[in-house]
Amino acid sequence: MTDFTSKKALVIGGSRGIGAAIVRRFTGDGAQVAFTYAGSHDAAQALAADTGATPIQSDAADRQAVIDVVAAQGPLDILIVNAGALVMGDALTLEADAVDRMIDINVRAPYHAAVEAVRLMPDGGRIIVVGSVNGDRMPFAGGAAYALTKSALQGMARGLARDFGARGITVNIIQPGPTDTDMNPSNGPMAETMHGFMAIKRHATGQEIAGLAAYLAGPEAGIVTGAMHTIDGGFGA
Ligand code: NDP
Repeated sequence: MTDFTSKKALVIGGSRGIGAAIVRRFTGDGAQVAFTYAGSHDAAQALAADTGATPIQSDAADRQAVIDVVAAQGPLDILIVNAGALVMGDALTLEADAVDRMIDINVRAPYHAAVEAVRLMPDGGRIIVVGSVNGDRMPFAGGAAYALTKSALQGMARGLARDFGARGITVNIIQPGPTDTDMNPSNGPMAETMHGFMAIKRHATGQEIAGLAAYLAGPEAGIVTGAMHTIDGGFGA
């Protein structure tokens, strides 16, 4: 448990998977939480009813919508950008629009959300973006565009940490390995192959990722910034 009483948090992409686990963890720890989602209306409503968090329908692929939703929250103590899109495919045939959409959701949204949040964020605030171990290691064919988006976050975090450090605002990337969600089910067709790359041969749970987010948002992590936090069962080791 981390005490987030009196803290206000926004999770971009919180209706399902890792984002929903983060919403559950932070509301459970006392934060006032709002979260966005794109299409999963029923899941968002159920999570809101369970946790008391506020659901907001807003497409992370729409730059202005991202900026507006962050600005509308007013001063945020914690911003977590979790929304992500994954489209795998042969680089020679992967649709250019699918690549652009991944870049919009996985790279543009975190950048603009972070910058917008910092305008009103109090000193000592926290920005956390969910990247991927694929930012460091892409051991399969067909993942170049996704890996591109996740490694871009590394440069962003290093740079924004410098921009906002004087105010004690930290900027960190969580880099999960295989994690049991709709995007990557632990019983999916790729599971065994992925476990083959891991020292601990199982998918992580959303709660395990949410625990790292809680540490990075909590009082013990005030000096942790501009850093990548890999939580991957040794996938990248
Ligand atoms: P899921 O597909 O299970 O859930 C994605 C969440 O993001 C949903 O709540 C979804 O909302 C939201 N989201 C997606 N696109 C948009 C959008 N355009 N606008 C607003 N919200 C959006 O994914 P995971 O939980 O598995 O992944 C979460 C993050 O973790 C991603 O950034 C992913 O790249 C990363 N990651 C995941 C790994 C894994 O193995 N699962 C491994 C490494 C990284 P809705 O359903 O309403 O669209």
